[in-house]
Amino acid sequence: MLDALFRPRGVAVIGASTKELHIGNRVIKNLIDFGYKGEIYPINPKADEIRGLKAYKSILDVPGPVDVVHMVIPAKFVPQAVEDCGKKGVKHIIINSGGFSEIGPEGAAIEKDFLERAAKYGIRIFGPNCQGIINSDPEIRAYCNFTFTFPEPGYISIVALSGGVAEVIHQGFASMGVGTRIYASNGNACDITIPEIIRYLGDDEGTRVVVTYVEGLRDPKTFLEVATEVAAKKPVLAMKAGRTKEGAKAAASHTGGLAKEDIATDLIFQKAGILDFRDEGQLINAGVAFASQPIPKGNRVGIITNTGGPAVIATDVMVAAGLKLPPLSEKTEAYLKERLFPEASVHNPVDVLATGTAEHYRACLDAMMDDDNFDCVFVNFVTPFFVDTDSIAKQIVEVSKQQRKPIVCNLMTDRRQWTETVRILQEGGVPCFALPSEAARAMAALVRYRQILDRDKGRVKTFSDVDTKAAREIIDRARAAGRKMLTAAEVYGICDAYKIPTAAWAVADSADNAVKAADKIGYPVVLKADSEAIVHKSDMGAVALNLENGEAVAAAAKDMQAKFDAADLKFLIQKFTPGGLEIILGAKAEPGLGHIIMFGLGGIYVEVMKDVVFNLTPVTDAEANRMLESIKGKALLDGVRGQAGVDKAQLAETIQRLSQLVSDCPQIAELDLNPVMAFENEIRAVDARIAIE
Ligand code: ADP
Ligand code: MG
Repeated sequence: MLDALFRPRGVAVIGASTKELHIGNRVIKNLIDFGYKGEIYPINPKADEIRGLKAYKSILDVPGPVDVVHMVIPAKFVPQAVEDCGKKGVKHIIINSGGFSEIGPEGAAIEKDFLERAAKYGIRIFGPNCQGIINSDPEIRAYCNFTFTFPEPGYISIVALSGGVAEVIHQGFASMGVGTRIYASNGNACDITIPEIIRYLGDDEGTRVVVTYVEGLRDPKTFLEVATEVAAKKPVLAMKAGRTKEGAKAAASHTGGLAKEDIATDLIFQKAGILDFRDEGQLINAGVAFASQPIPKGNRVGIITNTGGPAVIATDVMVAAGLKLPPLSEKTEAYLKERLFPEASVHNPVDVLATGTAEHYRACLDAMMDDDNFDCVFVNFVTPFFVDTDSIAKQIVEVSKQQRKPIVCNLMTDRRQWTETVRILQEGGVPCFALPSEAARAMAALVRYRQILDRDKGRVKTFSDVDTKAAREIIDRARAAGRKMLTAAEVYGICDAYKIPTAAWAVADSADNAVKAADKIGYPVVLKADSEAIVHKSDMGAVALNLENGEAVAAAAKDMQAKFDAADLKFLIQKFTPGGLEIILGAKAEPGLGHIIMFGLGGIYVEVMKDVVFNLTPVTDAEANRMLESIKGKALLDGVRGQAGVDKAQLAETIQRLSQLVSDCPQIAELDLNPVMAFENEIRAVDARIAIE
């Protein structure tokens, strides 16, 4: 679909300018300088030629096919120009100009106008208020962009709304001597979207790595769908900014988005299998490693070094990221003992010593490539005066080119003096970083992608024993009555309908009936006051625990009646279910996406430790299990120091039932089960709240 945009046969510039410092001139120069393979048509009613190219008075005068038009004209002229492009049969328009939805309603009206005209002709709009695209494919060489970083052909493609960040990332690669392929920065993105571009890059054989930057997602559901599909094929590296309240506000002011903290984007990244980064430097470094290195088969790293300390730093970083440093196989050890200096350390890390030669490095590299104990090789390389560092670099390049296992290099040198060594490594496609931690993190990113590829996505279980109709009826009735908070009877009714296990319960409207209900449930019981006005029940004295008999129930009920004279006051009577591990489960609607599901340690732990994890609906069986494994206090679930563990299978099932419930009943805005008492052989929710829209 976007082929004509990224591989245009002809490019016209409406608003082509004779002034050198004008964008309408620069775009033409960039196309020429980058060696664009198609035709370039400046459109200008007054000029005869621009930058040595014949200029046309109107797009309609252009003789050849035009796949892409740049528009560098004031916003108010854009709708008519789009109309002309339609008549010409143009496929894509990159609107570089601003003055549209980003400035307010007036601009938004123009945007709507030109969009309608474009749709009429089947033209797709890129932008407005944007930079444009670059395709470095030697067959195309399209620089439809007014920026200034001229990439070497490469395998990394970059997509972002923000031109500034896209450009920073682009420069990051260029400055490390790493080429890029497709670049797309689409500003307001009023038509062609980021997910659409990511899908295109997923299908583009020349793209090995997709790098994206986001501040918020316009259409999170589609993003998730597309990213999931593409991340299964090739690494997708992403960074989300605007994480602090202040950052979100800054993002809102330049994108017109909502200033809110959002955890949904992180969860989308996680669920889709995107590698997420908090730091653009790490994102760029990882991109460099992915661009030239194969994906490791596992997480076991062998280290070769000619200096001690930096290898220690790298080891710490890699181990903290979950990589393993297995010992050398006996064969490797024997092989290296024969070839390295007698003082060399033949363990993992292998220290060839500062005097280690190219032959030594090569022996280590070959041995580790052959050694089944290793999935990837980390090279620490300081460039001493007394060895032939160029030869060492050449050996590293040769082995790297074999593409057997990924190699990442921490190159410690004076780049002003060892220019040849650096050049050999860079041109040889060896990812070289200037700090051990940076190199180690790039290696960890390669391993992380392997883990993403290998992880069990699981399947969405559909429980057929649920009563969706009953749950929906309860919600519809409450909505009809204009209530946002459901009553205890409604909440527990919904739990029953979805077989979410709760402590035996009943609701009563008087002290007498509370006693009758308690008799039926069996003592000891708990009595809770239930009213829309009571939120944190225990804080307000609305929970009476461990009531052993009818008199105690009656007394507690009368006490509460006196305390809360709410018109809607009812009593919830529950089986007293003490002694379990208190768990919290929750769900929160995320507009345009579904629901966020929460799991963690409940009770006092929630407030103090915030030991909770999240996922998005629909939660698969494998994801539910991973949620259990992801909390810090997961050992408590298994039991510590002689304490019994809890019924993890039922917890995981309940997470999935909850996921199904909120998916079936999207009107549920918030749902909290806190706590769920978890025991060795069963779990029981003892407090539940549901808010609807
Ligand atoms: P709230 O969270 O509104 O203050 P809860 O219903 O969660 O009220 O009750 C407060 C605490 O009392 C719970 O965290 C739990 O420790 C305990 N509790 C509540 N109901 C039961 C019950 N049925 N069995 C055992 N303990 C309970
Ligand atoms: Mg509670």
